Amino acid sequence: MSVIDALRGAVGAAHVLTDGDLAAYEIDWRKRYHGRALAVVRPASTPEVAAAVRACAAHGVPIVTQGGNTGLVGASTPDASGTQVLLSLARMNRVRSIDAANLTMTVDAGCVLQAVQQAAAAHALLFALSLAAEGSCTIGGNLATNAGGTQVLRYGNARDLCLGLEVVNAAGEVWDGLTGLRKDNTGYDLRDLFIGSEGTLGVITGATLKLHPQPAAMGTALAAVPTLDAAVGLLQLARARLGAGLTGFEVMGRHALGLVRTHFPQLAQPLPPANWTVLLEQSDNEGEAHARALFEALLEAALEQGLIGDAAVAGSLEQSRAMWHLRESIPMAQAAEGPNIKHDIALPVSSIPRFVAGTDAALARAFPGVQMVDFGHLGDGNLHYNVQPPAGVDAAAFLREFEPAVNTLVYDAVGAHGGSISAEHGIGALKRDELVRRKSKVALAMMRAIKQALDPQGLMNPGRLL
Ligand code: FAD
Ligand code: ZN
Repeated sequence: MSVIDALRGAVGAAHVLTDGDLAAYEIDWRKRYHGRALAVVRPASTPEVAAAVRACAAHGVPIVTQGGNTGLVGASTPDASGTQVLLSLARMNRVRSIDAANLTMTVDAGCVLQAVQQAAAAHALLFALSLAAEGSCTIGGNLATNAGGTQVLRYGNARDLCLGLEVVNAAGEVWDGLTGLRKDNTGYDLRDLFIGSEGTLGVITGATLKLHPQPAAMGTALAAVPTLDAAVGLLQLARARLGAGLTGFEVMGRHALGLVRTHFPQLAQPLPPANWTVLLEQSDNEGEAHARALFEALLEAALEQGLIGDAAVAGSLEQSRAMWHLRESIPMAQAAEGPNIKHDIALPVSSIPRFVAGTDAALARAFPGVQMVDFGHLGDGNLHYNVQPPAGVDAAAFLREFEPAVNTLVYDAVGAHGGSISAEHGIGALKRDELVRRKSKVALAMMRAIKQALDPQGLMNPGRLL
């Protein structure tokens, strides 16, 4: 029996796609990786995933697991060989159960993040993972990449919001680790091995997620900030004044918001252009008036200390959404502007001003005219430090010629400041060679030993991460 026939037996012939337009599965979100799948397989349940994996294992066929295909590092689409099976979890989108007293919910891995947020909200609870791709990314993809987003400062990243997993391993066996326990010291943490493994160790089919009570009120504000030093000062002040109430602290550079102004002129920008614009978000357990008073007092103190210039506090949910929409439109505005060189880096917050000043200057010397599209989750020490080719040059040609040298310059500086070359997007195909160059030999050897032990045939998302 051919592998295609075996897969048809596993999930039903209607859900094994081999011809027609499969581009949505084969091209990544950034349109940098154009692959070709042997077949697109769409299981509807965990037993069907297990049967599909067993069929591939028996035929020695590699598997690329895909959720919403919003990943940014070239790990969710097949390579160009036409030999890899693309396993899409899109049909596995059931909320299995909610335990309000235990503050947990168990879902299929193909559930779209926004649907999970809404299911929690229907019980007056909060699922605190939030990112611009939430309308299409899936919980499985969020966990496989250990996604971060805009509330990590308060609630942690995807890893911190997951208590249990169900996984189909490379042999096609089901591991039921769907526990809602907050304490469980019974040996190696298998859950944490699969979180952040980018589909290279197994297929996540279900997850038990950690929920929080919904805050009584939320507040959002924008503040114009003259320097990154001032932005870090504002962060310290906001932490001191709001404590756990500070749920978001995002920074947007002048050029990043300029791109939004160019490509989305219909979006109102409440503040005039500034070197840096900070978006603060606050959650409050008492109510609207309390939240607003705290926020206004914070901004007043920041103004007195010379940390901020103009500021605007959202007066309604609509205004708050509009502020977030500005921040979340930056990646789209960048995409509309054309190809650029992306860096998703983490640094100690205290080092960020020096890192940016030094690296901006070094880039300007080495590649005159490049424009910096800087934005990100300053509260987590995570910057999207992106380099746009000089105005008027052929961007694609610039990337072909200079991307490796730009990366080396940036990542050397990241290393010198004790940072990481991937804060939240992962390694994928994009940063695999950098990982080998920059991770210690001991760490790489342990990672390879884990891969070998759990996927001895090397069929789970080969060529990615390791
Ligand atoms: P995919 O893209 O389908 O897959 C990503 C990786 O996970 C691949 O390696 C894939 O093989 C693997 N995978 C997917 N599902 C499974 C599964 N069930 N089991 C095993 N492996 C699986 N990321 C952040 O961290 N923070 C952000 O703020 C953020 N903002 C973004 C904004 C935009 C506009 C976009 C397009 C992306 C953004 N991302 C961000 C990238 C982020 O990694 C993804 O959006 C999301 O976490 C991936 O989910 P997905 O379902 O689309 O996964
Ligand atoms: Zn981000």
